[in-house]
Amino acid sequence: MGKFSNYEYRNLPGFDMKTFAGANQAIPMKTLVIHCLDPRAVEIPQAVADYFGDEVYPGEIITDENGTRVGSTRTLFAATNAGGRAAFALASVAAMDYLFDVQKVVVVHHSFCGTTTLTPELMVEEFHDHHHADISTLFDHDSLAIMDFEESLNYDIKLLRSSPAVPKHVKLYGFFYEISSGKLTEVVRDIPA
Ligand SMILES: [Zn+2]
Repeated sequence: MGKFSNYEYRNLPGFDMKTFAGANQAIPMKTLVIHCLDPRAVEIPQAVADYFGDEVYPGEIITDENGTRVGSTRTLFAATNAGGRAAFALASVAAMDYLFDVQKVVVVHHSFCGTTTLTPELMVEEFHDHHHADISTLFDHDSLAIMDFEESLNYDIKLLRSSPAVPKHVKLYGFFYEISSGKLTEVVRDIPA
């Protein structure tokens, strides 16, 4: 047993990994929003929750009589990365599907994103020049820079739809977010029949 093993669900008395049916009773999570880690884009999850109208965000933490945090009322979760790219969030989609009943995955790209200052080639070259390391094959090349917002959003929704990590019934949405006005514009959606 490790120093922190008592904090692992799999080690709790009565917890059985084989029969664990997910955490939806503790947190009614249904929507995952993928967006950029830029601090100017921090209101994106709230904007998406307001857009759909049937989401709870940020919601409230639920504690038991001992003060242990056992859940939350939140329905919408956020996964951030540079650019808010789907390619870098696939493991989060699969993990959220294991734990919850994911119904929507939403990609939001924002105005004046840092990833519009470069090209994928430039990032790879400069990284090599500065650090003498080759990152050219580590990541999804086209996800390293946003060259055109409509293209990047369509690219990400197609990537999600074609990924085995995204269940086929999940509804997909792509939005452009303007960071100064907070305006959210739907650019693409892919709703399974
Ligand atoms: Zn950004």
